[in-house]
Amino acid sequence: MTINRNKIVVVGAGLVGSSTAFSLITQGICDEVMIIDINKNKAKGEVMDLCHCVEYLNRNVKVTEGDYTDCADADIVVITAGAPPKAGQSRLDTLELSANIAKSIVEPIMKSGFQGHFIVVSNPVDIIAHYVYKLSGLPKNQVIGTGTAMDSARLKHFVGDLFHVDPRSVQAYTMGEHGDSQMCPWSLVTVGGKKILDILEDNPEFSDVNLDDIVKKVTRVGFDILEIKGTTCYGIATTVAGIIKAILNDENKIIPVSTLLEGEFGHYDVFCGVPVILNRNGVQDVVEVHMTKEELEKLGHSVSVIREFSKKIM
Ligand code: NAD
Repeated sequence: MTINRNKIVVVGAGLVGSSTAFSLITQGICDEVMIIDINKNKAKGEVMDLCHCVEYLNRNVKVTEGDYTDCADADIVVITAGAPPKAGQSRLDTLELSANIAKSIVEPIMKSGFQGHFIVVSNPVDIIAHYVYKLSGLPKNQVIGTGTAMDSARLKHFVGDLFHVDPRSVQAYTMGEHGDSQMCPWSLVTVGGKKILDILEDNPEFSDVNLDDIVKKVTRVGFDILEIKGTTCYGIATTVAGIIKAILNDENKIIPVSTLLEGEFGHYDVFCGVPVILNRNGVQDVVEVHMTKEELEKLGHSVSVIREFSKKIM
């Protein structure tokens, strides 16, 4: 009897890809991490460097460079190849270039016989994930965009900071586009089980808190980091590792990711960030939370933004 090894392929050895590989390796989430990049030398250098982590970790994770033919036995392929937005550009400005890159990656991977899960990180992530779903022909549960997973981590950080509590004690997420139009269903946000709306009402010292400003901060902070240090990588890398852990360990963890909607929240044929149950099947189920009429309208607006831009490539 052979015991299967968990193999993750990361396509794109840039800052996001190499940080993702580092996060997977240091947390010992899988047995093997393979890195592929159009710039073979970049992939080689990252693999050489990452291999040397192993001695001081609690698990011997194999780190290799590879080619698309090596994806046949991969459990998960993470797509991070792409062109990050330059100063003054939005994520949507990189659409056509990212779509061409995605096509050049997905086609040879599917030819290899790959039957695993795709996790799409490249921006604009909702549209590229939808495109990868169409190109791959894989079932919808196996194609996941990181969506608003990292935005939600940022949201929890800001809310935790406001009330001086651990962000992990905050139950909150943003939904919709991983971009300017994302929204937060504040009616569902709780801190230690208490509704945030009740906390604000009960505590006059928070009377000047503007919830819309917190969502604006979530949407802006990626660009603030970009301006200061030229890139964002650790937050997204850890987010991807968390998604992979939920799949490989069959966790049934609820994470807001970009998935195909087929009637949920009244929307069809669009990928956008919604809370889902993640396990070894990938997206097991969308959690159809009950939102207020105003929140549903905000989600609808975000979906229409994604839809409008999707027309450019699909
Ligand atoms: P980067 O420029 O550092 O790296 C991109 C890598 O992709 C490079 O190594 C490049 O050689 C490689 N590449 C380009 N074309 C390729 C192809 N056809 N095949 C294989 N490899 C190819 O960029 P980055 O900072 O790592 O960002 C990568 C992507 O991730 C961007 O699209 C960025 O917008 C996105 N991103 C998404 C999130 C999110 O929350 N979804 C967060 C941060 C970054």
